[in-house]
Parts: sequence; C-alpha cells; structure tokens
Amino acid sequence: MNVPFFRPNIGEREIEEVVTCLRSGWLTTGPNASSFEKEFANYVGAKYAIALNSCTAALHLALEAVGVERGDVVVVPTMTFAATAEVVRYFDAIPAFVDCDATQCIDVDALEEILDRLKNGQKVAGVPSDHGPVRAVIPMHYGGQMANVDEINRIAALHGIAVIEDAAHTLPAFIRKDDQSPWRAAGTTSKLTCFSFYANKCITTGEGGMAVTDDEKLAERIRIMSLHGMSKDAWKRFTSAGSWYYEVVAPGFKYNITDMAAALGRVQLGRAEELWSDRKRVANEYRQRLASIPGLELPTELPDRRHSWHLFSLRLDLSVWRTGRDAFMDGLKQRGIGASVHWMPLHMQPYYRDKYGLEPSDYPTAASLWPRLVSLPIFPGMKDEELAAVVSAIGAMAAEL
Ligand SMILES: *Cc1c(COP(=O)(O)O)cnc(C)c1O
Repeated sequence: MNVPFFRPNIGEREIEEVVTCLRSGWLTTGPNASSFEKEFANYVGAKYAIALNSCTAALHLALEAVGVERGDVVVVPTMTFAATAEVVRYFDAIPAFVDCDATQCIDVDALEEILDRLKNGQKVAGVPSDHGPVRAVIPMHYGGQMANVDEINRIAALHGIAVIEDAAHTLPAFIRKDDQSPWRAAGTTSKLTCFSFYANKCITTGEGGMAVTDDEKLAERIRIMSLHGMSKDAWKRFTSAGSWYYEVVAPGFKYNITDMAAALGRVQLGRAEELWSDRKRVANEYRQRLASIPGLELPTELPDRRHSWHLFSLRLDLSVWRTGRDAFMDGLKQRGIGASVHWMPLHMQPYYRDKYGLEPSDYPTAASLWPRLVSLPIFPGMKDEELAAVVSAIGAMAAEL
C-alpha cells in the first residue's frame, strides 16, 4: 500500500465556493479576501489580519513594517525552513542564526547570549563586525508546537527588538504560562505573526498566507506594501466605496491574495478545529503504535502547549538504527511510504554556510539532530490502514536491524 506524505483535505464546500467565486466575475482580491481577513482575525483573536499570497510574503512585509534596512541584523533559528532567513536577505540584512533546544524551536538561552554579544560588540558567528542595529527576531513553531514566546518577548523587549512569529506550522496552537493561566493562541502572543496556507499546511488555499497584528500602523503598512505601495484608500477601489484615484507612497510589492484562494480559505478556516482534531488522532495513534519499536524518539506535547500537529517529526537513535537516517528514508520509500526531513539546519545549507563562513559546530544541537530527523505522513483524513502501513513498514525495518 502506498501512503503519501500528505494529502490535502478538500471537501465539496471548498469546491463549490471556489466555483461560485469563478462565476461571480470577481477573481482577484475582493469580497472573499476581505471576509477571510475578518474571519481569520476573529478566529485567532487578533485585531488585524492581512491576507497575502504566501507566508514568505507575510514575513517579508512584517520585516519591512518594523523598519529593517540594509546591514541590519535579524535573529533567526537555524532549525527552520528557507523562508524564515531568505526574507532577511531580501533587504541585504544579516541573519544571525541561533541554535534550537530539545523542542527544535529556538533556544532562548542561546538567543539571549547572542543578543548580549551583539550588544557588547563581541563576535557572533557569521555576523560581520560592522553590522547595523538588531531589528527583530523570528521564532518559528517547529512542527506546530509553539516556541517559548513569553521568554522570547521578555528578552526582545530588553533589547528593544520586534518579535515576528513564523507560525507557518500552527493553526491552531496554544501556549499558557502555567496550569492556572488561560490558553493563548498563536497570533496573539507577539507583535506580528505570519501564517501559511501552502498546500500541506494546517489549512490551505493552495498558496497563501496571513499577517496578523494588534498594531494598526503595522497593519496599514503591510496592507499598503502588499499592493504596489498604493495609499490606503486604493485598496477600497475594489469595493463600491472606492474611487479611481490612488497615490503610490512607496515602492511596494505584489503580494495580494486572489479571491478564489480566499474563498477556499474561508471554508478551510471554518473546518480548522475538525482538521486539527483529526491530526491529533493520527499523532496519538502513532505515539501508541510506535512506542514498542526500539530506537525511536517520538515527538511530545509540553504540558503548557497545545500542538497543532502539522508535523510528526521523530528522531532516530542511531546506536539502534546503525545504517542511519538516509537508509531509513530509503526503506520507507521502498515500502511505498512518503516521508520527509524537516530540516537540514540553514547554517549548513551551501548559501548560508559559504556566505557567512559557518561551521556545523557553530550550532551543535541543530547539527546533531539533523542526521536523526524523519517526518512521517500526517494529515486529516489519514485512513487507519494507511497509519497501519506506516507502522508496519517501520516495524519490518526494525526487525531487520
Ligand atoms: C511553509 C513554511 C513557510 C513558507 O510558507 P509559504 O506560504 O509557502 O510561503 C515559512 N516558514 C516555515 C517554517 C514553513 O514551514
């Protein structure tokens, strides 16, 4: 039996709403986009949401809105997807990488140390000594479990830098201070938060993203820059309240979402809880059924977090799986199981390694985790026989060790 790494969960309602949009005569940013924004802001509990054509665009515009310029420093985890750091390079700014901790999110002690070193003019790997001011940090919620955003915000406030969450893996996800405190959703815990609706993310619009914030000025700047830098009222020309007149106030970008994508997103958003509970089911089944197979470190949910379970990323104990991760991946592939690896740390990727002269050992936790990482298929609607096929493939490989 073949099991894909991911299968999108698209129902008849999604199809109907996209078709209705196609028949409506309004294809680009319009009534669906504006409703999607309101419904999304309401769902996460933020004041403003700006729908865009990707999370990468959201991250780019978030950095632009907090004033990142050429030569500035933006702190990013090394254990993340390419997008988190490339947006820093769009400005010819400098990414200062930080190691991860056991949760694979940014290590807050290492973050504090790097910010202190930058402040005191001490050497930080890859950062030239003539660097500009540190503007922001972009924590990423690995696999859908939130980073320690309270500590990150405390440290960032001490250093006067903005926190922009890369929440591409979360919808929803929650954190609380302790078991007496209320749960708070990703999207409400930092100045700016960026979500992804890429095909395999928690909800999808095919391609799409959302920037959310409670700050009116940041929201307005992001909106203006997402559409050619045209003044605020230009956006309204899409509505009956609009007029033909607009002014270009900055050289903006072309990052607006289509109304077809937004129509799809609205239905998916309405199903977010249902899709989440089905991913939780798959994660719980994996944790039970894989528990007896030797040499697998399974992902866990911290007591003060609610995991979105975008990924089910486990770590191999290489003293048990002596042939290594790549052989494990090959074995899954031969048995028809789609799997993936999240990720080779960015400081080991050729571009960042060569441009900034980084060594694997500069970020030892990420470097030592990378050869052990395997992400198993997890998606809403995964059938029991598919789950069983993944577990039995791994069981068969364990029996051959
Ligand atoms: C998918 C992803 C992104 C980019 O999302 P797009 O919507 O494809 O631009 C950014 N960060 C992380 C961690 C991701 O996994």
